[in-house]
Amino acid sequence: MLVDEIMAQVSQRDPNQPEFHQAVQEVVESIVPVLERHPEYRSQKIIQRIIEPERAIQFRVPWSDDDGNIHVNRGFRVEFNSALGPYKGGLRFHPSVNLSIIKFLGFEQIFKNSLTGTPIGGGKGGSDFDPKGKSDAEVMRFCQSFMGELWRHIGPDTDVPAGDIGVGGREIGYLFGMYKKNANAFQGILTGKGLDWGGSLVRTEATGYGCTYFVNEMLKTKGDSFEGKNVLVSGSGNVAIYTIQKVHQLGGKCIACSDSQGFVHDPEGLDLDLIQQIKEVERGRISEYAAKRPSAEFSPNWRDIWTVKCDIAMPSATQNEIDANSAQTLVDNGCMAVGEGANMPSTPEAAEIFVNSGVLYGPAKAANAGGVATSALEMSQNSQRLSWTFEETDARLHQIMINIHASCQKAAADYGSPGNLIHGANIAGFLKVANSMMAHGLI
Ligand code: NDP
Repeated sequence: MLVDEIMAQVSQRDPNQPEFHQAVQEVVESIVPVLERHPEYRSQKIIQRIIEPERAIQFRVPWSDDDGNIHVNRGFRVEFNSALGPYKGGLRFHPSVNLSIIKFLGFEQIFKNSLTGTPIGGGKGGSDFDPKGKSDAEVMRFCQSFMGELWRHIGPDTDVPAGDIGVGGREIGYLFGMYKKNANAFQGILTGKGLDWGGSLVRTEATGYGCTYFVNEMLKTKGDSFEGKNVLVSGSGNVAIYTIQKVHQLGGKCIACSDSQGFVHDPEGLDLDLIQQIKEVERGRISEYAAKRPSAEFSPNWRDIWTVKCDIAMPSATQNEIDANSAQTLVDNGCMAVGEGANMPSTPEAAEIFVNSGVLYGPAKAANAGGVATSALEMSQNSQRLSWTFEETDARLHQIMINIHASCQKAAADYGSPGNLIHGANIAGFLKVANSMMAHGLI
C-alpha cells in the first residue's frame, strides 16, 4: 500500500525517470518492515523527504573540438542527501547520461555511503559527453568547461565528487586543475586524485577489490572460497580490471570480460596484463584481446557473456546488464554467487530470480561500496595532510567490506528476511540516514 502510494507520487512527479523509479521501488519495498516498527519515520515523512534531492543542478557545458567546431553538452550534479556528511558520489561521462540516471545513482549512493560507516552523504553527477574517440586536448577542454560551472557548488565540506564510467585519472586531473585555478585553493574537492597531488593508494583498485572481498564474505557463510572457481566479470574498465586482479589473487579464475561491443571468453584464464595494455594504455577495444591471445574467442553481443558457464558472476559494466533471461541462464548453469560491481546491473526480475534460487547475491550498494569507502579514506588523509601505505589502506578497505557484509546480514535477520542482502543493505543503510534526518529536524 505504502509502496504503491510512494511510487504513484514519484511517477506523477517525474514520469520520464524509469531508472530512478526502479531504484526507489527497490528501497521502499525493503523498508516496509522498518516503517511498521518505527511509525515516527512515517509521521515525519522520512520516505517522502529522502526521495527528493536536496538540490539538483543542471548546466550548459560548451567546448570546442580540435577542428574548432563548437559542441554543447549538458552537465548535472544532484546533491541528494547530506544527513551523514558532505555529498559524495562520482561523475559519469557517457552519452546515455540524463537526469533519471543521475538521480538513480545519487539515490543509491545515499544508502551505500551510509553502509560504509564513514561520514559522507549521497550525490552524483556527470554529463552526456562521450570521452571515447576524443583527443586528450578535447577531453581537457571539456573538463575545464564542466568544472567552470561545477566549482561554485562543491567544496571539501560541501560536496566531493569522484570518478565513474568515463571519468578516470586523466579526467579527475583536468577537473582538479580547473577547480584549483578558479577557487585559488588546493583542496580535497575530488577523490581519485593522482598520488603526487593528494590521491590515496588503493583508490584505483578499491571498487573491484572491495567487491571481491564482499563476495568472499558471502562464500565464507557456505564454508567456501574463490579457490578454483570460474568467474565471469563484465566490463573491462576500472571496476572490472581490479576485480579480475583480486579474484586471481584469491585463487579464482576469471574466464570472460566485455565492453559495449562484445565479450571475450578465455577458458585458460584472462591475461590481465594484456587487458590493461589494451584498455588502460591504448584505450582500445576488448576484441583486440582475442586477436592477440590464441586461447580466447570474441563474440559481438556483450549480453551473451552470461551464457558462459561459471561458478560466480561479477557484473561490472553498467545498469540493467543482467535481465531475467540472463539470470535464469546463470542459475541453470550452476552459478552460486553474484557480486555486483556495477550499479544496479540486475533488473528487478533478475534479482528476484537470484534470491529465489538461493544464489548468494551481493547487491550493488553493499558489494561495490569499497570505492566510495576508499574515497572517504582519501578525504581523511587529505584532512590530516597524511598518506597511508598501500597495506594500511587495503587493510582498512578489507575491514570495511567485512563490516558491511555483517551489518547487511544482521539487518536482514533483524527485520525478518534472513540471508536476503537486498533487504539487509537497504535497511542498514536507511536506518542511519533516517535517524540523522530525524535528529536534524524538518529541513
Ligand atoms: P569505466 O568507464 O572504467 O568502464 C566501464 C566498462 O563498462 C567499460 O568496459 C564499458 O565498455 C562498459 N560499459 C559501459 N556502458 C556499457 C553499456 N551500456 N553496455 C555495455 N558495456 C558498457 O567505468 P567503471 O569501471 O568505473 O564503472 C563500471 C560500473 O561500476 C558502473 O556501473 C559504475 O557506476 C560502477 N561503479 C564504479 C565505481 C568506481 O569506483 N569506478 C564505484 C562504484 C560503482 P565501453 O568502453 O565499450 O563503453
